[in-house]
Amino acid sequence: MEIRIVPLSEGEKKAKFTDESKLGFGKIFTDRMLLVEWKAGQGWVDARIKKNEPFVLDPAALVLHYAQEIFEGLKAYKWADGSIALFRPEMNARRFNHSAERLCMPEVPEELFVGGIEQLVGLERDWVPSAEGTSLYIRPTMIAVEPVVGIKPSDHYYFYVILSPVGAYYPQGFKPVRIMVESKYVRATPGGTGEAKTGGNYASSLKAGLEAKEKGFDQVLWLDGVEKRYIEEVGAMNMFFVYGDTIVTAPLQGTILHGVTRDSVLTLARSLDLKVEERRIDVNDLMKDIRSGAITEAFGSGTAAVVTPVGALCYKEECLEVSGGGVGKHTRTLYDTLTGIQTGKIADTFGWIRK
Ligand code: PMP
Repeated sequence: MEIRIVPLSEGEKKAKFTDESKLGFGKIFTDRMLLVEWKAGQGWVDARIKKNEPFVLDPAALVLHYAQEIFEGLKAYKWADGSIALFRPEMNARRFNHSAERLCMPEVPEELFVGGIEQLVGLERDWVPSAEGTSLYIRPTMIAVEPVVGIKPSDHYYFYVILSPVGAYYPQGFKPVRIMVESKYVRATPGGTGEAKTGGNYASSLKAGLEAKEKGFDQVLWLDGVEKRYIEEVGAMNMFFVYGDTIVTAPLQGTILHGVTRDSVLTLARSLDLKVEERRIDVNDLMKDIRSGAITEAFGSGTAAVVTPVGALCYKEECLEVSGGGVGKHTRTLYDTLTGIQTGKIADTFGWIRK
């Protein structure tokens, strides 16, 4: 599909950041966006890259009432030679379409999803920061815009992509986070939307996150929604526990997100001769294994969070340190290897990089 480029005048361009160490996360947006519409009976129409500016939405737009919305998150990295790399964007395209299917939204052709991002990032290349730990965060989104008060799939959608130069997701950088196992609220149940990347999942998790913050935690670790017993995932990360040279993570059974970083970590771990297990983890066993020292490290994985060490884990009244509150050796190696591949310092033998 041809993408029309709407020219931007010099006066429409924003001043760029000057200090890459102060970027923060998701607060600054670049000058342009990709916008494509889907209309019933016509399919995808009018793909254009245009000025990033507010939408005019009818107050009755379906997304504003019934949350028919999906999104993705991936990053572009500036390499030392000035070139720009995307990391496994086709995985995000596939997951986006998986979410679309669950939310009764139209699928976006993979060439439009990935090709549109490539063209947009190419035009906005001067916005990709280059300092260590920085990148250009890419946020593809689809919303239902048909103005109707009545629950039904929309007959009009916007698929759009916006870009944000970012620093570290956690302001403290590569430092261990404190995690609270959530025993009151649940995030997902079998048959629900846990596996889809849809706004409602995040809206319904705000309360638990807020209550955990008030108690001094960075994030909550969700348990399964049926027995509240098995480990699922953290707010925006999949979770891993290290038993010596074995890395354990929860299986993909419909309630947790199929993390691109999760898949990459599992592949990297195997290539580093670590053993990998995808299995259910009972929170009581988890606490016992941390207490006994059988669990030597814990970390989360995500596009924004990369590989984030967990220094402390609390469940009900008990708080336990992991890795002595520091960063474990496998966590460090996986972080270094993954970020090395993403930034071109380590050769990509997996075919993950798209320049
Ligand atoms: N779980 C949830 C709920 C998330 O929002 C994210 C971030 N997309 C992840 C896991 C990690 O997924 P990924 O590695 O693809 O960023």
